[in-house]
Amino acid sequence: MNIRPISWLHWRMSKRVTSVRDLLAEATAQLVTHSESARADAEILLAHCLRKNRVWLFTWPDNPVDPGTAANFRHLLEKRLQGMPVAYLTGQREFWTLNLKVTPDTLIPRPETELLVETALEKLRGKHTLLDLGTGTGAIALALASERPDIQVTATDISPQALAVAQENARQHGIGNVQYLQSDWFSALPTQRFDVIVSNPPYIEAQDPHLQQGDVRFEPLTALVSGADGLEDIRHIALHAPQWLEAGGWLLLEHGYNQGDRVVGILRAAGFRHACCLPDLAGNGRISFGQYLPGD
Ligand code: GLN
Repeated sequence: MNIRPISWLHWRMSKRVTSVRDLLAEATAQLVTHSESARADAEILLAHCLRKNRVWLFTWPDNPVDPGTAANFRHLLEKRLQGMPVAYLTGQREFWTLNLKVTPDTLIPRPETELLVETALEKLRGKHTLLDLGTGTGAIALALASERPDIQVTATDISPQALAVAQENARQHGIGNVQYLQSDWFSALPTQRFDVIVSNPPYIEAQDPHLQQGDVRFEPLTALVSGADGLEDIRHIALHAPQWLEAGGWLLLEHGYNQGDRVVGILRAAGFRHACCLPDLAGNGRISFGQYLPGD
């Protein structure tokens, strides 16, 4: 009898089954001219399709990927090659300690914003009420509410779609101390004062060429752009915040890497004391804050 043993390799090739390693190599090679994070993008997308984490991919590089999953992965890869952000393809992004749902109705949370969370946590020491203006996915409000279950958080957004995402994120993480309100900045707020107000508002200049590059091309323009100089919303928030702050309360704002001096100037002009700007991990001024001290 002439029975030839069929090797694993032959079997795999005859079935056109691709391994984790091969799929990652194929995708990384295609992505490398389109994305600065080609390998990471490929890993995140494949792990998502396989419903595994990235560590699993390193542990089982020879594992075969079934054709249905491979086709699904290649479909996402195609969209990534067209520029679609990874977070919109997987529908999620890690922020602080939370895995957040993200949709094209919301900005994708950025690591820089964790500096705003850290600084707000300091300002919230011994305090109990917080307002997050323009909450998007709920990133800031939920990170702070999860760290401080004893405080009352109000999260606003002008977009009802974004608020629905924030509420779902709160449900997913069992965070109950946040109230949601559809509001154009302060417009729909009931008369109430807060110990701390935070916001990561839109702050990009309308004509900024960065708007034509990378992930931001797919993010909601209303969450990104704020007038010709990028500071329209920051001016509005700084001007009105004193009416909503307790005496001694703080306003903290995220802004563009080159806006620190101007935002500190805006805070001082609006009457805030102890106004100051903090650099992010890349060394760019990123967060500015000031204290409301009436009659001081
Ligand atoms: N507060 C949200 C975040 O930081 C949304 C910010 C925005 O849409 N400008 O992710």
